[in-house]
Amino acid sequence: MTLCFATNNAHKVSEIQALLGDSFKLVGLADIGCTEELAEDQDTLEGNSMQKAQYVFDTCKVSCFADDTGLEVAALEGAPGVYSARYAGAQRNPDDNMELLLKNLDGQPDRRAQFRTVVTLITPQGTHQFEGVLKGSIIDHKRGTHGFGYDPVFLPDGYTQTLAELDLSEKNKISHRARAVENLVLFLKAQAT
Ligand code: IMP
Repeated sequence: MTLCFATNNAHKVSEIQALLGDSFKLVGLADIGCTEELAEDQDTLEGNSMQKAQYVFDTCKVSCFADDTGLEVAALEGAPGVYSARYAGAQRNPDDNMELLLKNLDGQPDRRAQFRTVVTLITPQGTHQFEGVLKGSIIDHKRGTHGFGYDPVFLPDGYTQTLAELDLSEKNKISHRARAVENLVLFLKAQAT
């Protein structure tokens, strides 16, 4: 069965292909000639991943899945959430985003936060959503140089290193994205048997 991952990141495609095994042939957007930027203008992670998957399913007539991730901070009532990439503005700059986050949490004792990824799968058999969560807290200054986005200020529960101080392979073992994809893969493998 051919399945499209609604992403332009070829690395992400090969990573998930390795998890899926031979029963599925995973392709990216470029492989199916879908070159336009996919809209994601909904106000929830569920809505955005659904919007992207639905667009690809309707336009390209192929079974597909899409993901969307946000950082949800308890003391900020779940913000930046679905707006994580552009928290500090349309320039989508990670340093600006982290600076604003630390400013908004200044003096706040409750530092609890989580990354949450939602994956939406659409096939002719129906629509399914999968979730992956990584719980942790926001420290008060940046630490580490690996990773991307909010990694330097996010301390996963049970760790003394931020996500930006962990190796990529260690981050990938615990990450929200890995957990959501794991749930997707379990579902797909059960369908294939
Ligand atoms: P996306 O849905 O994967 O594009 O993620 C949206 C935004 O959430 C990114 O631009 C980052 O700001 C943030 N984000 C998502 N995943 C991570 C992560 O693993 N570490 C740090 N920030 C992340």
